[in-house]
Amino acid sequence: MMIKTLRGMKDILPDEIGIWQYVENAAKELFELFGYREIRTPILEETSLFVKGIGEGTDIVQKEMYSFKDKGGRRISLRPEGTAPVVRSYLENNLNKKEALVKLYYIGPMFRSERPQAGRQRQFHQMGIEVIGSDSFYVDAEVIYLMKAYFDRIGLAGYTIKINTLGCSKDKTGIKKELTRFLKDKTNLLCKDCKVRYKKNILRIFDCKVEGCKALLRSAPKIIDAICGDCKDHFANLKKTLESLKVDYVVDPYIVRGLDYYTKTAFEATHPNLGSQDAICAGGRYDNLVRDTGGSKTGACGFAIGQDRLIMALGSKRESEKALDLYVAVLGEVPYKEGFRLCNGLRINGVSSDMDYQNRSLKAQMRQANRRGAKYVAILGEDELQKDVIILRNMADGQQREIKINNFIDEVKKLKC
Ligand code: ATP
Ligand code: MG
Repeated sequence: MMIKTLRGMKDILPDEIGIWQYVENAAKELFELFGYREIRTPILEETSLFVKGIGEGTDIVQKEMYSFKDKGGRRISLRPEGTAPVVRSYLENNLNKKEALVKLYYIGPMFRSERPQAGRQRQFHQMGIEVIGSDSFYVDAEVIYLMKAYFDRIGLAGYTIKINTLGCSKDKTGIKKELTRFLKDKTNLLCKDCKVRYKKNILRIFDCKVEGCKALLRSAPKIIDAICGDCKDHFANLKKTLESLKVDYVVDPYIVRGLDYYTKTAFEATHPNLGSQDAICAGGRYDNLVRDTGGSKTGACGFAIGQDRLIMALGSKRESEKALDLYVAVLGEVPYKEGFRLCNGLRINGVSSDMDYQNRSLKAQMRQANRRGAKYVAILGEDELQKDVIILRNMADGQQREIKINNFIDEVKKLKC
């Protein structure tokens, strides 16, 4: 039996990699223009980091984490998201000592043992940013603007930006009470998961995708009506700032996101190409996470783009196989040796080149050169070697000329510039 990838995990093959490299390179470029610096944290972390940070009652912690004991008996988990590890690293490495405001980005795989379906995998990939060290609504605006600027830059059309506010922790407590009161005599109408959420983490009910629960919540008290003056101002200022930046958004009072740490701003971007798993980016402010991870109270805000879904939404493939500059076609054992030396010499001089390694006929080698899109073919047989030359054929017009072997690399380099 052939071994296959695990369920919900995928290879990204060379034919598909072009679009991955494209979205990653564009992200790096733009994030750096906005002053963010890359951070790479380990894939494995202590389980407690996520339990504390993301929240005991969340789906991620309850059902979705890949957790196990290592040989030393420590509880460890594959990271299900990037923010908690970034905050851990920020504290562990005192990143705030050099700079009061720390702006970071990450790109990498995340793991959640969910039921695999379109747009939902067990290993997926996120590109995220975090701003740690400010309470300002300008930060929230920058984060949302950067998301929009990124989508525009890579040519993604048709997305919708939805924003909401969850209030501060005090507000959240009040809202939980109101929601409990509202749902008290209606719990029989909730789905099985929401019955648990009702007891353990009631705000999560807003995140439910089941139609019955969604309908019930339409008449529930809205978070937005129950928040304090400070949080209301923050939200109003954010909206104004977004308008000044010409960011189109809609206010969606039901966004709570799947993580407990969000306070005040929560937002997401959705795309109509994706069916029911339509969120391509999610983010928000998380003013308590740094404190809850062991630091002092520090305002922070960020987002995570789901790279797999983003690529699905883009719906385009990008040519990933780069055309070869030159193909070295050789006939005979000694020419082979010389061709191999030249081929490697070209490569380290910036000319992409290849040869066949399979002892095929000249005709087969020419066909291979064509398949690889080679602009030139160098032909080297016993006769040429006798004369100390190599034939250079321009594949565009079929023109051939002889070049002295010693001058060959220099001559080809000249053609490139
Ligand atoms: P969803 O409601 O779609 O499950 P979530 O609230 O779990 O989303 P976040 O944890 O906020 O999502 O992650 C941010 C983004 O990462 C999502 O908007 C989505 O694009 C992507 N994402 C999350 N889980 C998966 C998954 N299992 N497979 C593919 N992409 C995912
Ligand atoms: Mg989820």
